Amino acid sequence: MPLEPVIGLEIHVQLKTKTKMFCPCSAHETGALPNTHVCPICLGFPGVLPVVNQAAVRAGILLGLALNCEIAEHSKFDRKNYFYPDLPKAYQISQYDLPIAKNGFLEIHVPGGAREHARIGITRAHLEEDAAKSFHSVPPTSQGGVGGVACTLVDFNRGGTPLIETVTEPDFGSPHEAKVFLQELRLIARYLGISDADMEKGHLRCDANISMRQFDEAGNIVGLRFNPKTEIKNLNSFRHVERALEYEIDRQTRLWEALTPPSTSTTRGWDDAKGVTLEQRSKEDAADYRYFPEPDIPPLALKDIAQEMRSQLPELPEARRTRFASEYGFKAADARAACDDPALADFVEAVFSELGTWLRALPEMEEVNEEGLTSERQKLARLVSGWLFSKLAGILADRGIDIRTMKITPENFAEFITLIATRKLNNASGLKVLDAMLNDGNDPTHIMEDRNLGQVDDEGLLAEIVSRVVEEYPAEVARYRAGEEQLLKYLIGMVMKASEGTADAALAKNLLLVKLKS
Ligand code: ADP
Ligand code: ZN
Ligand code: MG
Repeated sequence: MPLEPVIGLEIHVQLKTKTKMFCPCSAHETGALPNTHVCPICLGFPGVLPVVNQAAVRAGILLGLALNCEIAEHSKFDRKNYFYPDLPKAYQISQYDLPIAKNGFLEIHVPGGAREHARIGITRAHLEEDAAKSFHSVPPTSQGGVGGVACTLVDFNRGGTPLIETVTEPDFGSPHEAKVFLQELRLIARYLGISDADMEKGHLRCDANISMRQFDEAGNIVGLRFNPKTEIKNLNSFRHVERALEYEIDRQTRLWEALTPPSTSTTRGWDDAKGVTLEQRSKEDAADYRYFPEPDIPPLALKDIAQEMRSQLPELPEARRTRFASEYGFKAADARAACDDPALADFVEAVFSELGTWLRALPEMEEVNEEGLTSERQKLARLVSGWLFSKLAGILADRGIDIRTMKITPENFAEFITLIATRKLNNASGLKVLDAMLNDGNDPTHIMEDRNLGQVDDEGLLAEIVSRVVEEYPAEVARYRAGEEQLLKYLIGMVMKASEGTADAALAKNLLLVKLKS
């Protein structure tokens, strides 16, 4: 009987606040010496009072809103008890039964997937503090190593950093969907400005839960809807998430086929070098954590803050993609390419605002098509996407330049697009101008004039070049006239060459056709 994977994610996002979750120590001091950003609160001394970081609460609410969650009117913190060297209090302050946000969803777009769109339920999102960082191997002496002796050392700088944990419903149908969701969540965190959400730096960490279930020919679930699952802990790259889940699908499928499906839920770790998951321990229940309300922190009343944050919610990636398509006339894939990088999207916006002046000068009588766009507008969108997302992006990638630091301003890029659109500059010369703009940040009109790269659309001048070419290639001209029409392309090529690539190709073709008829 066929099997399908059932996947749910638990994702920790480190919030980019200045200070820690419950104390005034500065957060995110990754470069600092170990244990230099600590105080009695984040070191878990007895008798101290934690104070809630309001910026973290606001950031958490923003994420809850972006994930279409209900924000709790009343929320509270709880103690989650477990014993480990990275947790000096022997409990983590987290949220148990009254998380700040619950019952949300996020739509993801999965081109080429088994389903193009998926709505992933968000069970909850809650605030908590991060644990400290432990080093299990021999540490470098600069980190306080003790002369090469293997030991576990703990750096409490990270301890107490604000986290928001998002728990999804088991709604993913494939590892790929899980990866796409994580990437969208990362982008949302960046749009909200609440986290850089960089997985490599540990700002975004993921536990992936997976089980299999059987279904019949008609697609109906056979047996239990949810079977015992494996939780793969601490995945810290998108690739690891996808690979680990694929591995688990194989492993569990084999167990099902041998009629020995997993009978209990377990926790496993991912070994990327070996490409396998390894059993760690059987999973503890909530009861094992002995959750109870944190007595030192008063409950949170969030109604007013939620209302205020709702009004501060910026435009989110999906809304921006849709707007880029409808407002600027981009194809869906181009809108996505632009909006997946906020810096690129901002650049596009600035370019179009410059082009606006120019667009308004276009003839009023432009026809409007089904999408409510004028053909000129779509032509312009195609020019911008072609030149920005493929040509310029290619040059930037080759040269290792970032769009944030490149010398081309949106004004100059808009002017460049205008030169191309009005055919003052052809494609070959356009590339040269773009290259020069990147080098010195000059404006394209100057570069074009300085280097004589302007397109020759002066009919008189071009007609002279055409006459010269017709004289210089009598054999080819004769063959064309005798019916070998493909030679027209060759002759156009010769005109382009004689003009050093500056001729307007369409005009050259027309002039040649006239000349060859005579
Ligand atoms: P736990 O008992 O491990 O705390 P939860 O019910 O709190 O389990 O769910 C934790 C995560 O595991 C959620 O993301 C949820 O979607 C996912 N999950 C729950 N049950 C399953 C299952 N049978 N298969 C796959 N994922 C599951
Ligand atoms: Zn502290
Ligand atoms: Mg749980």
